[in-house]
Amino acid sequence: MRYNKVRKTKKKLGLFLVSLAIIILVTLVGVTLFIKDDIQSISGVNKKGSEVTENTANNVPVKALADWKLILVNTENPIPEDYTLETRPLPNGLTFDTRAYDNLIAMLNDGKNEGLTFVVCSAYRTIELQTSLFKAQVAKQQHKGLSDKEAYNVAKTIVALPGTSEHNVGLAVDIVALDYQRLDDGYADTPEAIWLKQNSDKYGFILRYPANKEKTTKIMYEPWHFRYVGTDHALEMNRLNLCLEEYIEYLRDAALAV
Ligand SMILES: [Zn+2]
Repeated sequence: MRYNKVRKTKKKLGLFLVSLAIIILVTLVGVTLFIKDDIQSISGVNKKGSEVTENTANNVPVKALADWKLILVNTENPIPEDYTLETRPLPNGLTFDTRAYDNLIAMLNDGKNEGLTFVVCSAYRTIELQTSLFKAQVAKQQHKGLSDKEAYNVAKTIVALPGTSEHNVGLAVDIVALDYQRLDDGYADTPEAIWLKQNSDKYGFILRYPANKEKTTKIMYEPWHFRYVGTDHALEMNRLNLCLEEYIEYLRDAALAV
């Protein structure tokens, strides 16, 4: 009897210890897995979070550089041969890039509502028209007594070479006043030019060839020439006081710095 009792007690103790060991083991494994899982999920969130931040930062300047609105057209950057565009006629018959059309009309209408009288004297130009304008300018300079080479060099600071004018991509517009239609510096003092300079960025336009950027743009001051770049870029460029060439450099640097 006694032997049996001892055996039973030992057996119970054994079962208890085994159960305890299993419980401890299961608990330990569970806690370990839970902690591990928790660490993984935390690091997963962090990893994901930083990846998202990096991607966003990466993409902002890169995306901007690929934006059609920022196409850089100048002597060094002629229009790509495969460039295509759709234009829409303005009330006076000239045409403008369809994608920027509404912004141009809104700007002109808002100015008109403030008593200004704008005249759009140039918008989209075909390469053929640009060629004839350029040739006419060369002839004008030759007539002033300049040699062929001199006339050519002066002409290209006044009229862009065919294929290197923003007018050829339909995103540039020359706007003067009804009572001041001469394309000279005097236009800058008209209420129309002053209003456009102050407000055009809200409609996505920039004064493309400012007086203080002639060295960079290589185009003389043109208070009448406005270029569509989109509202975000226009506001940012004016805030930073950068012309388009400088703004693109700024974006390239930003893209490389990320
Ligand atoms: Zn122009």
